[in-house]
Amino acid sequence: MILIFIGAPGAGKGTQAELLAKRKGFYTLSTGDALRKHVKMGTPVGLIAKEIMARGELVPDETLLQILKEELGTIKKDKVILDGYPRNLKQAETLGNEIFGHKIACALHLDIDEQLLVERLSGRLVCSNCGATYHMKQQPPGRPGVCDKCQGPVSQRADDTEESVRRRLEVYQQSTKPLLAYYQSKGMYRRVDGLGGIDEVFKRVENALDIP
Ligand code: AMP
Repeated sequence: MILIFIGAPGAGKGTQAELLAKRKGFYTLSTGDALRKHVKMGTPVGLIAKEIMARGELVPDETLLQILKEELGTIKKDKVILDGYPRNLKQAETLGNEIFGHKIACALHLDIDEQLLVERLSGRLVCSNCGATYHMKQQPPGRPGVCDKCQGPVSQRADDTEESVRRRLEVYQQSTKPLLAYYQSKGMYRRVDGLGGIDEVFKRVENALDIP
């Protein structure tokens, strides 16, 4: 069973997916994380993706399909969250109602006022070791550049610069937002108000998904 997470960049999809994984036994497949792994390793996919990601544009659909095949093929769990896929209608159509034996249960929209996101994302810092996130002004790590949780290196993502963030928001508006109507028309759409504390939003996610 697959849950699709849709939301503007910085809406909190990754954070909520991580909680669902920890508390409800889901496996999270983040296409952004998978691509960053390829970039770091310098694979052919990474070489295609690097500049495109830094600009805040979408990586070609066929590259994403390759990532999906690779990742979904190795997953042992039957409950999967897709964080970051599909990002446009063509990808949604590729996914259909079922992919590689996984049925799509619903598309959860983490809805948040997009005005707030430029400030949130352009100040975001991420630990490249454990994925913990911080904010330069509102929640800096105790020691600059060092993760409080694992002592790994904390830095800004290449695509969290203000220019890139603005472009990612435009791409979201143009390419990803039409997915909301697409999943509404299929009766698979669930909306969650994404504004508030992490646990507060998580309760809404649980209610919307109605999972035991
Ligand atoms: P994310 O970590 O989800 O914010 O994704 C970071 C970047 O990876 C995006 O801005 C895109 O450049 C790329 N990316 C991730 N998922 C997709 C996708 N489904 N289609 C195209 N590009 C993607």
